[in-house]
Amino acid sequence: MSSSQNVEQPIVDIPVTLEEVFSLQREESVFVAGGTLLQLNWESGQHKPNHLISSHKLDRLKGITEETLNGENYLRIGSSTLLSACISDINIQKRAKIITEACAKIAAPAVRNRGTIGGNVCSRVGDSIPALLVLDAKLEFFNGTSTYIITMTEWLQESQLAGPPLLLSILIPCNKSGQSCSFFQKIGRRESFTAAIVSTAGFMKLRNEIITDIKLAIGGGAHLPQRLADGEAYLLNKDWKKTNWQEFRALLETSFQSYSDPFITDSYRRKAAANMITAKILQILKNDKGGEAKRCI
Ligand SMILES: Cc1cc2nc3c(=O)[nH]c(=O)nc-3n(C[C@H](O)[C@H](O)[C@H](O)COP(=O)(O)OP(=O)(O)OC[C@H]3O[C@@H](n4cnc5c(N)ncnc54)[C@H](O)[C@@H]3O)c2cc1C
Repeated sequence: MSSSQNVEQPIVDIPVTLEEVFSLQREESVFVAGGTLLQLNWESGQHKPNHLISSHKLDRLKGITEETLNGENYLRIGSSTLLSACISDINIQKRAKIITEACAKIAAPAVRNRGTIGGNVCSRVGDSIPALLVLDAKLEFFNGTSTYIITMTEWLQESQLAGPPLLLSILIPCNKSGQSCSFFQKIGRRESFTAAIVSTAGFMKLRNEIITDIKLAIGGGAHLPQRLADGEAYLLNKDWKKTNWQEFRALLETSFQSYSDPFITDSYRRKAAANMITAKILQILKNDKGGEAKRCI
């Protein structure tokens, strides 16, 4: 463990074991991974804590591996995995392509070479979250005494704890039965290097013309990332060729809360998300874009 301090900067502790992390914790301690979001927040005037605990040297938070837990296969992504590694890793590309796509839409290369997927998740507004939600991702935490696993959906519904647990890894189920398709889309005020107006993600399975599994989510910007349960219920077990897609689109538009800022209204964000999701699902179903079938994972 090493420690450094100067007059204006917070003390930064760099533990090497999980046990050490919590023995170092004080009232105002904050975990830091890449520090890209924390720094952005401080520059915009948010309170800077006087003590940071870095996850940099914790081996338990590193690596991308395949694991079996309770008979289920998972892709385990260590929380300190860089966003750039999530883009280049062959296992993530193969098993969870939309994580690759979501991470490629976050910030610019320099930030992605520093920022981590764990920091993105723990921000609770990161662009990777909608993609993780539709993949039914689980989160593995350490609370100082034990590790536990919780679904991403449950975690988002929990109120934020004053002394939060340490995120160890993200577990993505490796679903082998049947062919599935997924998508991630983010719109911002320009094509790239931009904050999201809204991000959407979807996961779908089809048998003949029947939609046998469907998961939809939105997030990005200041949205609370969430699954779109009404839209999912509307499509589940429907014959897609007999589905009223206009009705589905209209339902989606009113099925989640958004927000306005000085540039973009709440209704614009909801309409854009509903249009994006409907168009993307239909594009995949009709397979009308060259190579779309390759997106199936
Ligand atoms: C110019 C710029 C553009 C950006 N654009 C985007 C964008 O388009 N989309 C987007 O989603 N984000 C964006 N970000 C935000 C940020 O870069 C990403 O969210 C990044 O993934 C955060 O990772 P980090 O490791 O830097 O997190 P940090 O800044 O280190 O931490 C972020 C939060 O997570 C907590 N935390 C970190 N690790 C853990 C852990 N293991 N356990 C518990 N809590 C933890 C920290 O306490 C903090 O609250 C941008 C940032 C910058 C500077």
